[in-house]
Formats: sequence, structure tokens, C-alpha cells
Amino acid sequence: MNKEKKILSTLMVIVMVGLGVALSGCVEEEEVNKIIVGTSADFAPFEYTDASGNIIGFDIEMVTTILENLNYTVEVKDIGFDSLIPSLQAETIDVIAAAMTITEEREEQIDFSIPYYEADQSVLIKKGSDVEINESHNLENFTASIANLTIGAQTGTTGAGWVQENLIDTELMDEANLKLYDLYIDAVADLDIGPARLDAIILDLPVAQAFAEDSGREVAYTIITGESYGLGVREGETELLNNINAELNEFMLSEEWTTLITKYFE
Ligand code: GLN
Repeated sequence: MNKEKKILSTLMVIVMVGLGVALSGCVEEEEVNKIIVGTSADFAPFEYTDASGNIIGFDIEMVTTILENLNYTVEVKDIGFDSLIPSLQAETIDVIAAAMTITEEREEQIDFSIPYYEADQSVLIKKGSDVEINESHNLENFTASIANLTIGAQTGTTGAGWVQENLIDTELMDEANLKLYDLYIDAVADLDIGPARLDAIILDLPVAQAFAEDSGREVAYTIITGESYGLGVREGETELLNNINAELNEFMLSEEWTTLITKYFE
């Protein structure tokens, strides 16, 4: 080896070692700031998967923006809605972004951010089906008109809770008439098959509207429940919660928010 070559190869070794140190530094930093968001990606336009299997939606873009502004690297995990709170408690996820309604019962288990979206429940049916709903906004007339239907809902949701409280606990409906699904998309697949499987689904109105856009389905009724969605964090993670609230507050007043609403809801 001549002198020049020797110098060159020594230099290369130095550069490579330097690069390695720099890179490992980056990886470490990334790990430290990584945050895992849990969602249930069957709830368009809030969270769903695109044709290539990427998890997208209003909640996902919103929470990613907020957490990236807080200098986190975000990973999104798709898990069943009913497993989100246990996963948060077990620390397999750090934040819930899943169009989750702030309820008293859930507030005993986790902490919620400030509300970011308002929604009611609704009844989704197959277009042209002979389901007849009493559309008066009298709860008794309405519940009586749907008590004989086979109704689907996702396990652990406020939709399922509404059926339980207003139809089953009141003994208007036989418990067997409520079919619980892990995923709303599976309920919708059964609705499409028809009355042999399901007559109706109770779910959040904005999502029912998205399912109705697709084909052959319609929103037959709005059940005014006045729910508010919040992001979930582990109880006692006050600093994270405060940071999220500050970012969310600012974000909701920004033009970016309006753009996001237009993108996913109009
Ligand atoms: N908003 C409803 C709830 O919190 C449904 C949420 C969902 O299915 N992703 O129970």
C-alpha cells in the first residue's frame, strides 16, 4: 500500500466510525421520544385504513400533528376498540385517538383531553329495507319502533351502551337481539347481507354518514346523545395531558384544523 492509499483508508475508517456514532445517537434519541398512539381503524372518517393498509383519518392526522409539535416520533397501533383502555393501562400504548366519547365511566379509568368533536348516535339501515322507525323525537315511541329489530353495535362503545340502557335494561328488547361486533365494519358487512343477519346498526352519526355514502345504506334516525370526543392518556400523566391540551387548543383555532375538517367531513 502506498502512503496516499494508507491515508485514504485511515480517513475512511475515521469517517465510518464517526458516522456510526452519529447514527446510533439519532436512534437513541428517537427511541426516547417515541410515543405510541392506539386506535381502532374501522371508524371512517376518524380512523381507517387506505388501500395500501396505512392507517389514516381525521384523528390520526390531528394527533400526529399535535404529538410531533411536542417533539415526539409517533407510531400508530391498530387494536380493537374495547382493548384500547386496557392497553393504555398496560402501557402498550400511550395515547388513545379513536373518536372516543368522554364518559364518566371511562374517566374513572383514564384521563381525557379537552373535547375536540361533538357527535350523536344514529341508526344505520339498508336502503329500501322495510324497517319502520317512528321518527318523532319521543324516546318511548322511537324505542318501541326499533325494539323488535336485530341491532348491531361494536363492543364497548357508547352505541352498544345506548342499546343496553334504552332497550335491554328497560326490557323492551330481548338481549339476543343485540349483536356485538369487535369491529363496526363487520357489523356493516352483516347489515349488507340483510335482515337474516342484521336490521340496523347503532353508531356515531358522522361515521354512519360515511358508511351511508358508500352505497345501499342510509341513516334512518339521529339519536341525540350530545357526546364529546377526547384523546385518552394514562391517569396521572399530567404533564403529557397538559401539553396535549395546550397544543390541541391552539390547533383547533388554526387554519390547519379547518383544512382537516374540510378534508374529512365535506
Ligand atoms: N364514540 C363511540 C365511543 O366512544 C364510538 C367510538 C368507536 O367506535 N371508535 O364509544
